[in-house]
Amino acid sequence: MARYTDAVCRLCRREGQKLFLKGDRCYTDKCAVARRSYAPGQHGQARSKVSEYGTQLREKQKAKRYYGILEDQFRGYFELASKRKGQTGENLLSILESRLDNVVYRLGFAMSRAEARQLVRHGHFTVNGRKVNIPSYLVKVGETIAMKDATKGLEKMKTVIEANSFRQPPKWLDYDKNALAAKVVALPTKEDIDLPIEEHLIVELYSK
Ligand code: SF4
Repeated sequence: MARYTDAVCRLCRREGQKLFLKGDRCYTDKCAVARRSYAPGQHGQARSKVSEYGTQLREKQKAKRYYGILEDQFRGYFELASKRKGQTGENLLSILESRLDNVVYRLGFAMSRAEARQLVRHGHFTVNGRKVNIPSYLVKVGETIAMKDATKGLEKMKTVIEANSFRQPPKWLDYDKNALAAKVVALPTKEDIDLPIEEHLIVELYSK
């Protein structure tokens, strides 16, 4: 599957905010946004007026980058969101948040979504007791996501869980700390998503 492989800190600087793409480094003063809070490139420090289209485009790019998704798949999620009941923008956020790699990240099993994606691909998690190695798998209400027993014993995993213990799992996941498993008790709503994404701008962009 295609994915973005360039220096990820440039993406944060381009969006002008932390997207937490690098894991533990994001929480230190080595963060590139903290050190150089302007866009990368020759004209990064130049002030320019941003058009309405530019604002909408940036919001879409930001959401894609948060979740590590490329354009075609993101567009597919938008189409899916528009077919669901309710507001398309909020549906879109809910779908993005329901990805298995995001769930693994939210539960604190990985330092970044990119790392979570790799863990899922390597088959470290089950859904309702069956191995699922598809990062884009969308979890559903009633399903239980669990770490495989063999993975629980890995020193690296214990270190990551300890390092992420300050992060609270979202309310829509009923997390069992001892079992390292979580049940989906509801689909995520906009209120559950702590990302500064103005989803209506993305809807406006795709509706042109
Ligand atoms: Fe973004 Fe993390 Fe790099 Fe900071 S350290 S610029 S938050 S990826």
